[in-house]
Amino acid sequence: MADNARNQLDILPHQRDETTVGNYFVSNYPPFSQWSTQGVGDALGQLECKASAATPLGLYLHIPFCRKRCHFCYFRVYTDKNKDDIRQYLDAMIKEVSLLAAKPFVSKRRLKFIYFGGGTPSYLSAMQLEYLVAGLQKALPWDDVKEVTFECEPGTLNEGKLAAIRSLGVTRLSLGVENFDDHVLRTNNRAHESKEIYRAYEWAQSAGFPQVNIDLIAGMVGETDENWQKCIDETINLKPDAVTIYQMEIPYNTTVFQQMQGNHVEVAPVADWPTKRRWVSDAFDSLEASGYAIASAYTAIRYPENTEFVYRDALWNGADMLGVGVSSFGYLAGVHYQNQAHMAPYVSAIEDKSFPIYRALRTTREEQLIRQFVLKLKLGQIDAGEFINKFGVNVIDRWRDVLKTYENEEMIEIKGGQIKLTRNGLLQVDRLLYGFFLPQHRGIRYT
Ligand code: SF4
Repeated sequence: MADNARNQLDILPHQRDETTVGNYFVSNYPPFSQWSTQGVGDALGQLECKASAATPLGLYLHIPFCRKRCHFCYFRVYTDKNKDDIRQYLDAMIKEVSLLAAKPFVSKRRLKFIYFGGGTPSYLSAMQLEYLVAGLQKALPWDDVKEVTFECEPGTLNEGKLAAIRSLGVTRLSLGVENFDDHVLRTNNRAHESKEIYRAYEWAQSAGFPQVNIDLIAGMVGETDENWQKCIDETINLKPDAVTIYQMEIPYNTTVFQQMQGNHVEVAPVADWPTKRRWVSDAFDSLEASGYAIASAYTAIRYPENTEFVYRDALWNGADMLGVGVSSFGYLAGVHYQNQAHMAPYVSAIEDKSFPIYRALRTTREEQLIRQFVLKLKLGQIDAGEFINKFGVNVIDRWRDVLKTYENEEMIEIKGGQIKLTRNGLLQVDRLLYGFFLPQHRGIRYT
C-alpha cells in the first residue's frame, strides 16, 4: 500500500472495518489538534469578560490518579503518586477554582453541574475528598447545583467511602465496570476484579444515590460473543438506573498501540467495528426487552421520565464549563481551552497565581453550530427548528448532500423537520459525524 494511502487510513480509523489506531469517539469540535498556544490569550481574555446570565455554568474536575494504567487508556493518569503529592494537587485545584471565581466571567455565577472525572476520582480517600470539596465550595458555592457526577473504579470503594461520597452531594455515581470477566479485566490491565463490582454495587445502592450508572466497553482485548452476552445478563440482573456502553477504540498513546508498533501490526488485537456494533446492538435489544429506553448512542436508561443528564445536555447545548486540574478541558462562551497536560507545569503555574492553560481555540459561530449539531446527533434525533431558533440556520438545507447520502445508506430518516438516526446509524454515529465537519477538519488526527 502506498504510504500516502496508509496514512489516510491511519488517520481515519473509523472508515475501516478493522480496528486500527486512532480516535473514533467524537467528544468535541473543532478537533483538539486545532487548539494552540496562540489561542491561550483568547481564553484568558474571555475570563475578563462578563458572561451571559442565561448560560449555565459547570465545573469539570480531573482527578488523574489510578491504581493501574489500563492498556487501552489514553488519559493523563498517574499510578505512582504518594499522599503528599496528592495533597499538593488537591491544593492546586482549590487554588485554581479560587483564581477562576475571582474573574468577571465566573464571579457571582452559580454552578449548575459538577463532574468528577479522571483518572479515578474514587482513588481519593474519604478524607481527601472531604478536604477537596470543602475547599472548592469555599471558593465557589454549590447551592444551585442540580447534578454532581462522580466516576468510580469498583476496587477503590468501600462502604464508608461511598457513604461519604453521597454525603458530599454526589447525585450520579458512574461505576466503571467495563467487563464482568476476570480474565478480560486482567488482560486489559484493569485494576479491579469481578467480585469487587458486586460488592461496590451493593454499597452504592445502600448509600442511596439518586442515579447509579454502569459503564461497559464492547470489544476489550479477549472479548467473545459468549462473554459479552454474560456481561449484558449480569448488568441487567443488577438493574442499574443507566447503562453506558462504549465501543473500544485504540488511540495513539495507549499501551495496546505500543504493543502493535512493537509487533509491526496495523490492526489492533480487538474485535472489528461491525462486531462491536453488533455487540452494542445486542445489548440495546436486551436492555429494551428489560424495560430500558435507549437515550443516546451509548446510553440506556431505566426510568426515562425521571432521569436527567444535566452535564451532558448542558454541555452539548453550549453551556460554559470550567475545566480544572491537569489536562482538563473547558469552554468559555465559545472559547475552548485545555490545561497543562503534566503535573509539574500545572502545579507551578497555580503556585505563580497564573492560569495553567496551555492551548485554546476561539470558535466561530459556524463551528459552534457544527459542535452542537454533531454532539446532539448522538442523542439519535435532532429537531431542525431548535437550530433555526438558535443559529438562524436550517441544518437540513445546510447539510443537504451529506444527509441525503446517509439517508440513502439508511443511517438516518428525515421527516417533518426531524432528523432521526436509524438503529444502524446510531450504532456508528461517531463515524458519520465526520461528514458534518468543515472540510479542513475532516482528514486530520482527532487528538
Ligand atoms: S481507570 Fe480509567 S483513567 Fe484509569 S487507567 Fe483505566 S481507563 Fe485510564
